[in-house]
Amino acid sequence: MPRLTISPVDRVFVLTGAGISAESGIPTFRDAGGLWRNYRIEEVASPHAWRRDPRLVWDFYSMRRKVASAAKPNPGHFALATLEQALGDRLFLCTQNVDNLHEQGGARRVHHMHGELFKSRCDSCSLPPFADTSLHESPGEIPRCSCGGKIRPHICWFGETPFELEQIFRALDECSLFIAIGTSGSVEPAASFAAHVAGGARTFYVGPEAPANHAMFDECFLGKAGELLPGLFSC
Ligand code: NAD
Repeated sequence: MPRLTISPVDRVFVLTGAGISAESGIPTFRDAGGLWRNYRIEEVASPHAWRRDPRLVWDFYSMRRKVASAAKPNPGHFALATLEQALGDRLFLCTQNVDNLHEQGGARRVHHMHGELFKSRCDSCSLPPFADTSLHESPGEIPRCSCGGKIRPHICWFGETPFELEQIFRALDECSLFIAIGTSGSVEPAASFAAHVAGGARTFYVGPEAPANHAMFDECFLGKAGELLPGLFSC
């Protein structure tokens, strides 16, 4: 089993992707059987889709809420929560996932750069994002804000700017160890994080196959996150 030594002065940036939730039963983006295989991305996850057919968009996110609410964290999520306890604010945990499995696994400070599946917000006014586990499925109405705007999922869609980028790039600039887990290295801007830190930080990848940006990593640990992460960190 591989081991990754974390020194008392290391600052660690962890980037997770859909792969860390795969063993919890949430399909990834591109793998066979993935959620998205049955949908055209631009029809369900873009501002254009929302303008054109909010009903279809809510049907897609209601389906994802159902899938995610049945899922439980796996040993990979628990291992990162344990790492957070050990490192405190020397760990920056950034996820592209919109599920809440890191939090369910015990992580306290998770940066959701692509939003959160169990939150919604108004598409028109500045009402802050709020907790929402409801299913807004056909043939129901599109939920409305008191301002008259439509309530939308609190998700960063294709063509929108991810959340917390300023804080994320500050943490990337400060880290001495960068670990990407279960992400194919093909969705920007996260795909470029490894290149951003390369040279200044040690870089590692964890997942069953090398990602598209594998050249940016010092080493790829090939295997499932739920199997490798529990024994990976030595600090
Ligand atoms: P991706 O689907 O492009 O890549 C998933 C990666 O996970 C692949 O490289 C695959 O080899 C790897 N993988 C599969 N099983 C694994 C395992 N057991 N352990 C470790 N790795 C494993 O996903 P991405 O790079 O995260 O980008 C897809 C986009 O889709 C993201 O923006 C994300 O927001 C979204 N998405 C989120 C979820 C979720 O919230 N759980 C699920 C699907 C897609």
